[in-house]
This record gives sequence, structure tokens and C-alpha cells, in this order.
Amino acid sequence: MAEASHDLVIIGAGPGGYVAAIRAAQLGWNVACIEKEKALGGTCLRVGCIPSKALLESSELYHEAKDGFARHGIVTGGVQLDLAAMLKRKDEVVTTLTKGIEGLFKKNKVTRYAGHGRITGPGKVSVEGSQPMTLSAKHVLIATGSSVSPLKGVELDGDRIGTSTEALSYPEVPKHLVVIGAGVIGLELGSVWSRLGAKVTVLEYSNRILAGMDTEIATEAQKILTKQGLEFRLGVRVTGAKRKGNGCIVEMEGQPSIECDRVLLAVGRRPNTEGLGLESIGLQLDERGRIPIDEHFRTRIEGFHAVGDVVRGPMLAHKAEEEGIACVEGLIQGYGHINYDAIPGVVYTHPEIASVGKTEEELTAAGVAFKKGSFPFMANGRAKAMASTDGRVKILADAETDRILGVHIIGPRAGELIAEAATAIEFGATAEDLARTCHAHPTLAETVKEAALAVDRRAIHM
Ligand code: FAD
Ligand code: NAD
Repeated sequence: MAEASHDLVIIGAGPGGYVAAIRAAQLGWNVACIEKEKALGGTCLRVGCIPSKALLESSELYHEAKDGFARHGIVTGGVQLDLAAMLKRKDEVVTTLTKGIEGLFKKNKVTRYAGHGRITGPGKVSVEGSQPMTLSAKHVLIATGSSVSPLKGVELDGDRIGTSTEALSYPEVPKHLVVIGAGVIGLELGSVWSRLGAKVTVLEYSNRILAGMDTEIATEAQKILTKQGLEFRLGVRVTGAKRKGNGCIVEMEGQPSIECDRVLLAVGRRPNTEGLGLESIGLQLDERGRIPIDEHFRTRIEGFHAVGDVVRGPMLAHKAEEEGIACVEGLIQGYGHINYDAIPGVVYTHPEIASVGKTEEELTAAGVAFKKGSFPFMANGRAKAMASTDGRVKILADAETDRILGVHIIGPRAGELIAEAATAIEFGATAEDLARTCHAHPTLAETVKEAALAVDRRAIHM
């Protein structure tokens, strides 16, 4: 079998792995990256962040053209959906971006191996594929990501009863789509198909949606999404889903079953560690099947590191990227930086929901005294001009020092607005700092300034 040696071998070319590969190569290392899928970019680029955002954008435009343009005085006549064209555009966006990573690998001289990476011993990884290889490296980075968590009784058939991957490519708009799980995937892909005309029922085990997000913001999100037509059934325990004729049937504990034409299972994701050969180095997983690491991304086995969805923390592409960079900079330069208090999270519904830092519930549970300022988009001139006034910005600041501890936004472009809040937290800013910063008028960002003023009870436009 062919052999090769590198400074660093990375298993997985998702946001954690491919970004780490490029950064390590920039810093002068001889880097290889093994990926088992044909396209680079991982879950995020192939079947996650990017295709879902392409469809969210297209479906929102369709919905606006159909129901929103009239309030701007635009008369469109009959608006029609060309679903095949919409899906094709989504696929083109994915192809362009995944090919872009191939280009970046070439530019940075990262060696790509196509195949399944398996650890075979200390400093050894084999590539199993059409061109098998044995690789040696002083350092190995595991960035194998995550896959959909199954649910007992739900018989995934890769078609009518599927996961987010199938829901990115339904060939027709379902009449009735049942989504299991009111988390990020459930709300984003539920919104896509609801906007395109499906009846969408979301079944959630817990008594709230968006577990882990600020409760006040999640409650507001539920109200807004319900108004848009999503049906939520909370506190529901799904016991099974199976095919019935051309459709499906979903069973729940203590409730009548639902007949529908498609089911989307979205109850979380679990780390990819099967078939990785971890037993060959004696690497044990934690209680949730993740690879345990220390603050330098070192596993318990010398020479093996891990980042991204396969380790603890939020399963987010930008978190995986930051970890990948911090990990290799730490290895090569002796220091790397990541601030887990300043990692934003965005749900790309309409309006968007975004947060960074601690929630009100987390601060209360930790016994931290805090002040709160809130400002609605209803009172913002730009939001009015856009006819998009649902939602608000909420800022939580330390009661004594005024330091910003958390920012939670539901409203237009919340995913862009949260960047200012993340920067503020990263720089250790106070609410007063944000309140004193001049924000252009009329912008949505003025809502962030007003919420910061509201922390000190001096918002101007409320
Ligand atoms: P992954 O992206 O999963 O990449 C791991 C790679 O390793 C994969 O390509 C896999 O094929 C490869 N691999 C695994 N095992 C092996 C092996 N043994 N040998 C070779 N290759 C292997 N996050 C956001 O931040 N924003 C979003 O908008 C967003 N939207 C999402 C939408 C959906 C529908 C989904 C499913 C996820 C979304 N996420 C989003 C989450 C995001 O995709 C992940 O957090 C991110 O991809 C994790 O990066 P990673 O590098 O750790 O793993
Ligand atoms: P999630 O953890 O966000 O939500 C899963 C939901 O399913 C939870 O509300 C949970 O209570 C519910 N649930 C669990 N078991 C259930 C059951 N038996 N019946 C009914 N409901 C049940 O998971 P997800 O939506 O699958 O997303 C997976 C990961 O992908 C998330 O960690 C997320 O960070 C990431 N993601 C991020 C984005 C984004 O950043 N915009 C988009 C999509 C996915």
C-alpha cells in the first residue's frame, strides 16, 4: 500500500477540518485532509447551512412576492412556483462553494485524500477508498462532525420519512409535512415548506420551542411562527412513524395519530465516531458519545486532537471553524484563541432569531445579578420602512459593572445585527459603550443602541 508522511493529518473536511487545514498550511505545515464524501465542506456546505439558507432565501422571496409585495404597492399578478428551478439554484450554490474549497486546498497546497479515514495506531491513519494509503503524522486532528440522531420507532426510509437531507430536496411541496422536533432544523425547514404551501405540524417533546435559547425570545418566536401558519404541538411524545400507502402515519403517546405525506425527523445530531478506529489508540468517548478534549483540543491520547461537532459545545459551523484555527495555531505557534462566551447562534426563520452570551435563565440559575434593556423593532424607523416590525432586541448586562453578558434578538436581519453584540462581548464592552456608539440612521442597528440605552432606562424612542 502507498505511504505518505505529513506534519498534520485531518480526518473530515467540514468547517472544522478544512479551515484548520488551510490555517495550518498558511503557517507552513505539510497538511493532509481525508474526506469520504466526493464534495468538500462537510455537513455545512453539502447538506446543512448553505443549502438550507439558499432555500430559506428563495422561499421567503416567493412568499413575499405572493403575500408581501401588495403592501408596498407592487401588483404582481399570479406568482408561480417553479420548485425544480428553486432546487437547482440551491444545488448550484452548493457546488460553487464546495468547488471553492477544492480551489483553496490547491492554493494552500493541502493534500486531499478521498476515502474513509481510520486511525490504526499512534500517528497512523489509513485511507480506505479507491486509492488506499497509509499515512503517518506527528499530529492527527479528528473533525468528523455529526449525523442525525435516530428516534426509536421512526422508520427512516430516505424518502417519505427522512431527515434534513431529504427535506432539502423534496421533489414536490408536501400537502402535509410533520416535523418531529421544534429545534433549529425543525423551524428552518418547517418554514421553507410552509412558505411554499405545505401544512406544517411541528411535534415537540418539551413544553417550549428552541430549547436552550432565551425563553422570552423563544416564546415570541412561537407566536410569530404560529401566525405564519406553523402548527405547534408541544409536550408530545412521538412513539413511531411509518409508511402507509403513499403517505405516512405518525404515532404519539396518548394522542390520535396523524396521517401526512412526509415526515422530517429533527431531534438533534450525534457525533461521528463509528469506524474511526478509536479503539486502536484506546480513546474512550464521554457519556454522550463525544470525544473528550481539554482546552487545547487535545484528546487523552498524545498526538490526537479533535474539534467541531464531534466534541462538546454547540453544533455550529463557526464554532467548529474557530476551534480548528485555535487548535492548529496552538500546535504551531504555541497559542490559539477561542471565547466560548462570544459564539453567536442564529435561527434563519423570518424574522431571524439570534443570540450571543448568556440567557436570562442561565444568569438567574448562576445567581448573577443583571440589568435588562429591551427595544422593539416596532419603534425603529428602518423596520417600519421595510414593513418588518416584529420582534425586539434584548440586552442583559451585569448589574454592578454594566458589562454585557448576553444579547438576544428576534427581528429583521437579527443574524447580521448579532455580530455587533458578539464584538462587544469579545471586547468586554459595557451597555454604556454600545449606547455611546453612534449608529447610522435609519438602520436596524439603532435598535441595538436603543436596547443598550434601555438597560439604563433612557431609551429615546420609547
Ligand atoms: P461536518 O461539517 O459534519 O464535517 C465532517 C466531515 O467529516 C464530513 O464531510 C464527513 O463526511 C467527514 N467524515 C466523517 N467521518 C469520516 C471518516 N472516517 N473519514 C473521512 N471523512 C469523514 N451551523 C451553523 O453554524 N449555521 C447554520 O446555518 C447551520 N445550518 C445547518 C442546517 C442543517 C440542515 C444541518 C444538518 C446543520 C446545520 N448547521 C449549521 C450545523 C453545521 O452544519 C455543523 O455544526 C458543522 O458542519 C460542523 O462542522 P464539522 O467540521 O465539525 O463537521
Ligand atoms: P435541536 O437540538 O436544535 O432540536 C431538537 C429538538 O427536538 C429539541 O427541541 C428537542 O426537545 C426535540 N426532541 C427531542 N426528542 C424528541 C422527541 N422524541 N419527540 C419530539 N421532539 C423531540 O436539533 P436539530 O434541530 O436537529 O439540529 C441539530 C443541530 O444542528 C443543532 O445542534 C443545531 O445547532 C445545528 N443547526 C444549526 C442551525 C443554525 O445555526 N441556524 C441550523 C440547523 C441546524
